[in-house]
Amino acid sequence: MARAWFQSINPQHTQKYALDEVIYRDPKSGDLLEVRHDMHELSKTSAQAWRELFDSRWRSHNKVDASGIWGKREWVLPDLPVDDIVTLGEGATALFSGDELSKQFGHNELYVKLCGNSHTGSFKDLGMTVLVSQVNHMIKNGAPIRAIACASTGDTSAALAAYAAYAGILSVILLPKNKISLAQLMQPIANGSLVLALDTDFDGCMQIVQELTHEKEIYLANSMNSLRIEGQKTVGIEVAQQLGRQVGSDDWRLPDWFIIPGGNLGNVSALGAGLKMLYDLKLVNSLPRIAVAQAAAANPLYLSYQKNFADFQAITAGETQASAIRIGNPISVKKAIHTLKEFGGVVEQASEAELANAAALGDLSGLLVDPHTGVALAALQKLKKGGVIKDNESVCVISTAHGLKFADFKIGYHAGSLGAVEANHTNTPVDLKASLGAVKDAVAKFLDQKH
Ligand SMILES: *Cc1c(COP(=O)(O)O)cnc(C)c1O
Repeated sequence: MARAWFQSINPQHTQKYALDEVIYRDPKSGDLLEVRHDMHELSKTSAQAWRELFDSRWRSHNKVDASGIWGKREWVLPDLPVDDIVTLGEGATALFSGDELSKQFGHNELYVKLCGNSHTGSFKDLGMTVLVSQVNHMIKNGAPIRAIACASTGDTSAALAAYAAYAGILSVILLPKNKISLAQLMQPIANGSLVLALDTDFDGCMQIVQELTHEKEIYLANSMNSLRIEGQKTVGIEVAQQLGRQVGSDDWRLPDWFIIPGGNLGNVSALGAGLKMLYDLKLVNSLPRIAVAQAAAANPLYLSYQKNFADFQAITAGETQASAIRIGNPISVKKAIHTLKEFGGVVEQASEAELANAAALGDLSGLLVDPHTGVALAALQKLKKGGVIKDNESVCVISTAHGLKFADFKIGYHAGSLGAVEANHTNTPVDLKASLGAVKDAVAKFLDQKH
């Protein structure tokens, strides 16, 4: 019997579907599916045994064990043959903290989970390794799948392009024309995907790719495909593992709060799913709260939260530096609201100035903050100010991408050319003639200013 399967998020529909089936929605209600696990089977292993197993694999020399995802494979895709796994060493990322970070944000126990320190520079690798591994397995077993396709605000396409290329599978990318960063566009081009730049926004691309993938020979890689969630859900599990060890305890430990930027809202659902599994299998004994952070220009969940989630209305997302979360009609909104209700969740928004200044503040502590993580750090500042997050509560911000993917954003900020943004922490290069005297003067001036 299968130890994991697809099932509707609608609790009334209990039909199970095999993970080998090409299916993304519950045929009856049209709701999304989720991967369910045989929790009874998993609970036969003690919490202590799970912790020891997962710790023994952390950063192992064995390629599959070393992956943050596949080191926890019994909780991810327990029935997938190890030989079919397509991994590029994703996950097991650093948990950043320190005195300077705490000082910049005036918060004592603050962590940033660096999910962007990954093969393609964003957390999308965590889910894509699972999806491409499953497709690889299906193709090996004769499934007539000819290509994998996705709509993307940039990072999903980069991840799909790399994992598909590595596995020798063709990929098709639908992008909103001129709405993603140059680095993000360069990635699928370089990895040999068919890159289609469409004259629409992300929501428009999402609609077309759903229709395109009605043909089962083109497999859908967006996060409405819940295989992605299974990989992404390991992020909270890793944080618990790292945090326990950081304070020298045998137990695993969760922060009081997670703050996570949200666009299509798959990742917050994934975070919740992993935390729930930790709790249900007794590896931790309490659950944290979750805050979703949205750009004010693309804030449909924030607007719904203002009305206690009584109602959700899609919007047309406006322009934001946080281009990967420029989404007005998030496909996983039902899952996300369910997660937030379960985790005492809140939603905060950040303006362009708030996200850019928060990112720059983070950079001063040694991070390189992408605009989406900037949204989350700005949300931290605002939730602290509003008294929602207390000074004595521990907080983990999920950093979703590497700052190097957003060089225009960073340079623009420091050059003061980011539109309406009033930049509070700019740092500009000094043009100088090549003489020791001039350099010494500049150094002296710098040291005087800083001390
Ligand atoms: C995809 C993405 C997000 C949003 O994740 P969702 O699952 O769509 O909510 C946030 N930040 C970055 C950098 C992303 O690429």
